[in-house]
Amino acid sequence: MRGPGKWQHRLHGHGARWTAPRSAILELLSRSSKHMSAKDVYGSLNRTHPGLGLTTVYRTLDLLVRMGLLNKLSFGSGESRYEFRSGDEETHHHHLICMQCGKIIDYTDFVDEELKLIKKTEDALTRKHGFKITDHNIEFLGICPECKG
Ligand SMILES: [Zn+2]
Ligand SMILES: [Zn+2]
Ligand SMILES: [Zn+2]
Repeated sequence: MRGPGKWQHRLHGHGARWTAPRSAILELLSRSSKHMSAKDVYGSLNRTHPGLGLTTVYRTLDLLVRMGLLNKLSFGSGESRYEFRSGDEETHHHHLICMQCGKIIDYTDFVDEELKLIKKTEDALTRKHGFKITDHNIEFLGICPECKG
């Protein structure tokens, strides 16, 4: 279960201010299993947070991505979508993205094999480039069964 409290200490850890838009957006995304666009977030919070404008939503989402609390999925010319990053290994997943309808499929298949390969790749890249790698992101782009059919 994803619940409150999971992200609250992480927000503090960043020394970030505890603003209403930040907590409202994190709360919403941490309870949703969907990948939401800024407009979806704005639409969902509109009633409970009438003062929250779309510009603030965009700005806050980008800030939370930089803080590592959200994943941002951007592809093609479509709108970016956001999802909560739990940081747990059991929810580690990646995405299949349909270039035609924008559907996003979460998959967790082969994650064990993937993590082994990623670890090996990261170690080699760190050695070669002296670059400390903290995260990775894998997206496969293509056509979903509905759009193909
Ligand atoms: Zn599709
Ligand atoms: Zn996802
Ligand atoms: Zn991965």
